[in-house]
Amino acid sequence: MTDCLFCKIRDGQIPAEIVYQDEDVLAFNDVNPQAPVHVLIIPKKHIATINDLATDNAATIGKLYLAAKHIAAEHKIEDDGYRLVVNCNAMAGQTVYHIHLHLLGGRRMNWPPG
Ligand code: 5GP
Ligand code: ZN
Repeated sequence: MTDCLFCKIRDGQIPAEIVYQDEDVLAFNDVNPQAPVHVLIIPKKHIATINDLATDNAATIGKLYLAAKHIAAEHKIEDDGYRLVVNCNAMAGQTVYHIHLHLLGGRRMNWPPG
């Protein structure tokens, strides 16, 4: 998609602090972190929301979680714990319409989330 912020980050048109990438996945620090560790993990393929997932996206979505595990270990937060969040559509607070997994850690999380 041409007018998608995260596609522009993927294509290097907007700078970001990239912390991980492979063939299918890109991860970068959130510009407005809500925790000491706040990484956004996206599929390189543009998919707007979880509602737009198709069966053949399943492996890619699985890879987002594998990347999260890897990044959590790099930050040494895997034993203390961390939170993975996907917001879908407006009521959940989605503001960028390119699927992204939030990896949040380095502080105690509250439940239920606000
Ligand atoms: P959402 O609200 O859609 O679940 O999350 C979007 C996230 O993208 C927010 O946490 C926001 O801080 C982050 N964000 C928005 N614009 C940029 C940007 O230009 N660069 C980076 N690295 N993160 C961004
Ligand atoms: Zn996109």
